[in-house]
Amino acid sequence: MNQAVFEPWSDPTQKPLIRFKSVTKQFGSFTAIDDLTLDIFEKEFFALLGPSGCGKTTMMRMLAGFETPTSGVIELAGADIAPLPPNKRAVNMMFQSYALFPHLSVYENIAFGLRRDKVSGDALDARVSEMLKLTRLEKFARRKPHQISGGQRQRVALARSLAKAPKLLLLDEPLGALDAKLRQATQFELMDIQEKTGTTFVIVTHDQEEAMTVASRVAVMDEGRIMQVETPERIYEAPNSLYVADFIGEVNIISGTARAIGDEQFHIDWAEGNAPFLATSSRPFSEGQPCHLALRPEKVGIHAERPEAAENAVQGKILDIAYLGNLSTYHVALPGGQIIKAQTANTRRVSRRSYTWEDTVWLSWTSTAGVLLPE
Ligand code: ATP
Repeated sequence: MNQAVFEPWSDPTQKPLIRFKSVTKQFGSFTAIDDLTLDIFEKEFFALLGPSGCGKTTMMRMLAGFETPTSGVIELAGADIAPLPPNKRAVNMMFQSYALFPHLSVYENIAFGLRRDKVSGDALDARVSEMLKLTRLEKFARRKPHQISGGQRQRVALARSLAKAPKLLLLDEPLGALDAKLRQATQFELMDIQEKTGTTFVIVTHDQEEAMTVASRVAVMDEGRIMQVETPERIYEAPNSLYVADFIGEVNIISGTARAIGDEQFHIDWAEGNAPFLATSSRPFSEGQPCHLALRPEKVGIHAERPEAAENAVQGKILDIAYLGNLSTYHVALPGGQIIKAQTANTRRVSRRSYTWEDTVWLSWTSTAGVLLPE
């Protein structure tokens, strides 16, 4: 993937492919989408992530034309899409159920939309063949959907959605029906196909790992609003709120009050330890302002002895250990009751040192290891 240099969102001269301008969608008195503004750029693989009921599907349905905004405007390539019926939009939606025609062959399933658009003869065959090749389904062209595997059916649905070369493909939980291993392999295939065709993909998923794997940017939603839109790395490493920090991955939230001690340096007074801990933040905090440090477990070191020269070190007792094969997560209780999770990578098959329940250990983290967030 060439994502390191693909950043149209940070180039002010780039025009978005999709623009939500103050879009609100109400169902009766219930506000499903609340004054939402968002740009999505051509060739992006954009993920909508959020808890059930936050409005992800409603956004997709408005893009596809199955719902209209109560107020605000949605533009596709600079033009308001409201007057266009679903079948006139350069948008296709792939549903979780795939909705393949059971009585038609793989070939005919892919050809279906093209035939309806009066494509025929060599042009039809060329396009279907191209789609079969793209999704590596050439060998299965004559089979019916029930004669192929779940992963292959998923690829047929994808081929069918891409056959008419939409500008925008909406994918609603596209891999939901696949088991974990196949799902992972298919994520990479999806990225590959997205890159080869240059189609803009907007995906809805419940699976945060999936969103982080495939997406150029992720929008984290809550109750009809977008909380943060960023690259997966920024969402993980620089969440802008407790909500986002807590929603993505595992995190320790350590609460306290801030005291500035120098340029972007703060002492945080907290309930644990005999001393404040040190944190760095470019976001300003006033004297005594309540704050929370969002600290990822893998950024917390675990030691038998007090680590020399650690910026922050506290002692605690191991309460629980979750062994995940590649990682171990230790739940360590501090004297005042706060539990901090520390994660270590199991890079050796036989570890030199292991800790067990009830062991007293030291935890450490650097002043830049976490993100300091306001209340
Ligand atoms: P999930 O992940 O569970 O699919 P979602 O984020 O896709 O959730 P939406 O389907 O967009 O959520 O629904 C957002 C909110 O709008 C929900 O509270 C839902 O109950 C409500 N809603 C959606 N469609 C309608 C409708 N036709 N009439 C009334 N309320 C609706």
